[in-house]
Amino acid sequence: MPTLISSISGWGRYPVQSCELERPERYADLRPTETSLITRGQGRSYGDAALNENGRVLLTERVNRLLEFDAEQGTLRAEAGVTLAEILEVIVPRGWFLPVTPGTKFVSLGGCVAADVHGKNHHHDGSFGDHVLGIELILADGSRVTCSPLENPQLFWATVGGMGLTGIIGEVGLKLTPIQSAHMMVRHHAAANLEQLFGLMQDASIDDRYTVAWIDSMGAQLGRGIAMCGHHATQQESPPGFQHKGKKNSRAIPCDFPAWALNSLSIGAFNSLYYRREGAKREPFLSGYDPYFYPLDALEKWNRLYGKRGFVQYQCVIPDASAYDGIRQLLQELSASRRPSFLAVLKRLGAQGRGLLSFPMAGYTLALDLPIRDDGLFALLNRLDEIVLQHGGRVYLAKDARLSAESFGAMYPRYAEWLKIKNALDPQNRFSSSLSRRLGIGGSDE
Ligand SMILES: Cc1cc2nc3c(=O)[nH]c(=O)nc-3n(C[C@H](O)[C@H](O)[C@H](O)COP(=O)(O)OP(=O)(O)OC[C@H]3O[C@@H](n4cnc5c(N)ncnc54)[C@H](O)[C@@H]3O)c2cc1C
Repeated sequence: MPTLISSISGWGRYPVQSCELERPERYADLRPTETSLITRGQGRSYGDAALNENGRVLLTERVNRLLEFDAEQGTLRAEAGVTLAEILEVIVPRGWFLPVTPGTKFVSLGGCVAADVHGKNHHHDGSFGDHVLGIELILADGSRVTCSPLENPQLFWATVGGMGLTGIIGEVGLKLTPIQSAHMMVRHHAAANLEQLFGLMQDASIDDRYTVAWIDSMGAQLGRGIAMCGHHATQQESPPGFQHKGKKNSRAIPCDFPAWALNSLSIGAFNSLYYRREGAKREPFLSGYDPYFYPLDALEKWNRLYGKRGFVQYQCVIPDASAYDGIRQLLQELSASRRPSFLAVLKRLGAQGRGLLSFPMAGYTLALDLPIRDDGLFALLNRLDEIVLQHGGRVYLAKDARLSAESFGAMYPRYAEWLKIKNALDPQNRFSSSLSRRLGIGGSDE
């Protein structure tokens, strides 16, 4: 198969690495190589999970057929390269929705399984892998196996959250969620500080199926925020005759912004405006599903806002027992560093997933977008890792570009179990990525 050597990156545009790209046109052409290979969907992981420096990267974007959709039962089977955006176009008009969705719909089905992605409903519905009926996995020896929670379950739970390191996910079967409308019924609750915000997130009387909080991570206002709660509107709640079509992107960032454009002043001003405007929405209101789940998708290539050197999204989870203290310490450390985060999002996570390397655990997850201006950022992130470790938490691999192998080992206690399965299936460690080598995942290279 022809290949192309090209410099590519994840969504954070850091790091940029030279990889050998291979783009199969058909399902039958998905196969491993003799040398190191990693599969790549839409490249929406932020760091180096879908990079393979000086090695092969298998692009699945053309292997994207919807194979079966049962509109009675709400089940779907598709090739792994199909995007959530393509699936939504088909299922929403027929009264179904994705059981779990990340904050962008421009991701592939395979990428959602491999990262075991979570959404704003994790505390009620778990993560993506909990709704997968089965997958076809292409192994290092070229054989194809079906696995599911019932069939080859060990392989299944090593692959859900396994970051593409157990094989190529070829096909995915998914159980969908019924909806009565394409609308969301949403309500905002403003909190003047972090303590109040945690109070809101724990308050069962305002909790809804989907809950997420925006946090002001800047200076004097540190920790104030807005809890945004919502559910799929019922028939009674939605306007009659509403037809929803997925929105196309209408605007794009035309060029790289200069690195100074996002500074403490501009972000502080934005935060004040946002807090006043969104915090004032005290009555429930209807929203389309696009602006509710995918607000950032409205601006194509928004990653250019962070300038040429790119940015890191730091996402961690702190277990329930010390979540408030841990998140407060993280925000204080960030604030003391005087590095503004344009985006700071807090979500509640439910029980630990079954994927051996899955990120979610019962607690609170914080995500921060931090532009790379100098190497001082990496020293700050190492300090954040220490806080996360002190509280028994972990960093999300799908967002990571810089964690150390030692911290990974301490954060993912089921790694040894995972490694046994990996070594049995892929003794030559053919499926490997820049992330796996940086973190020492997968082992028997030597
Ligand atoms: C704006 C934005 C918002 C986001 N919000 C969330 C969120 O709310 N929750 C969340 O959990 N994540 C979130 N993410 C992260 C994103 O959902 C994950 O990184 C997802 O894995 C990206 O899918 P992808 O198709 O782009 O995969 P890629 O980035 O291409 O790959 C990600 C990983 O999946 C593996 N992979 C991809 N396809 C296959 C396959 N067919 N077989 C085997 N392995 C494969 C790759 O090897 C890699 O390890 C967000 C990302 C962005 C850019």
